[in-house]
Amino acid sequence: TDLVHVAGARPNFPKLAPVHRALANLDVSQKLVHTGQHFDEQMSGVFFRELELPEPDINLGAGGGSGIQQIARAMTELEYLLTELQPKWIVVYGDVNSTVASALVGARMGIPVAHVEAGLRSFDRRMPEEINRIVTDQICDQHFATSQDAVEHLLNEGVLEAGIHFVGNPMIDTLLRNHDRFDVSAIKRKFGLEEPYAVATLHRPSNVDSSDDARNIVGALHSVADVIEIVLPLHPRGRARLLGAGLDDHANVRVVDPLGYVDFMSLVRGSNVTITDSGGVQEETTIFGIPCLTLRENTERPVTISHGTNRLVSRESLGRAVGEVLAAVPQPRSVPPLWDGNAGSRIAVKLHQLL
Ligand code: UDP
Repeated sequence: TDLVHVAGARPNFPKLAPVHRALANLDVSQKLVHTGQHFDEQMSGVFFRELELPEPDINLGAGGGSGIQQIARAMTELEYLLTELQPKWIVVYGDVNSTVASALVGARMGIPVAHVEAGLRSFDRRMPEEINRIVTDQICDQHFATSQDAVEHLLNEGVLEAGIHFVGNPMIDTLLRNHDRFDVSAIKRKFGLEEPYAVATLHRPSNVDSSDDARNIVGALHSVADVIEIVLPLHPRGRARLLGAGLDDHANVRVVDPLGYVDFMSLVRGSNVTITDSGGVQEETTIFGIPCLTLRENTERPVTISHGTNRLVSRESLGRAVGEVLAAVPQPRSVPPLWDGNAGSRIAVKLHQLL
């Protein structure tokens, strides 16, 4: 095998799909390893079908437990697997536990590792994802960046310029490729929604891991629900805590299960405002030109603020921000550089050269 991709959690799959497809077009021999970090139909299975990804060649079953347990189990399993496969390259995506686990194993085994979506920094080490990003980038050999600020961060951290490639955003390749499948009328019918409506997704530890935070978030969302209906496809992480804090005790709040990619994008596409703490959603709303209010103190994706529709808000300012956004005149849409649907091919061409 020339190349092994390791993916494990929902945000990996829309990034992996265009890279895998472009490498297949170049006839590169590749295997897809699923660590099992997210393993059920709604967080994983549906993405493989909808994004036309092949079934994983190997499933490590390293899901469940704490994040540290996931990293440890994935590392143990990966050492056995990579000893057997001996690939020329390992490709890892984003900032999830599977990403840092595979990068560490590859680096320790002397197998070169390429990181897709390298260099993003929130500069907030309270975020587990930030630790994953920093460690992964320090030990990887090739870095594929989605934005110029990411390139600067890598250079500042001493990463060699020759291994940094500004290629654009593979997540946006997937969005543009599937654009015609997003059906706003169908999703509104499915959920019985009338415009205007808001979509919200929340799962970051800083928002959902303590009962106090969950209560504050629910209070903020209820103040929004007083003015606009909110649909929340809730991630399993934090779901129980948000519901326990009374999230759906409001006539204008609709909690639903996590959605498949096409349904979720259709829902966002039709919304008047999206409220989130997700990384990917900040980027997707930028392309759609849908106002995005990010319930966080910082973002590792500042290009979605400078070029896009994103704005950081606190729990206290959320209600006011929603009012402002709903009253605002729509602005002309701008798109970050190279978010053009061709990131996967750029990455594949580079990897192909390295084989
Ligand atoms: N997503 C989806 N269904 C949902 C929520 C999210 O298909 O119900 C997709 C969407 O494309 C999003 C991606 O999954 O960008 C990753 O989202 P998540 O919030 O899990 O991860 P993050 O980007 O915060 O790491």
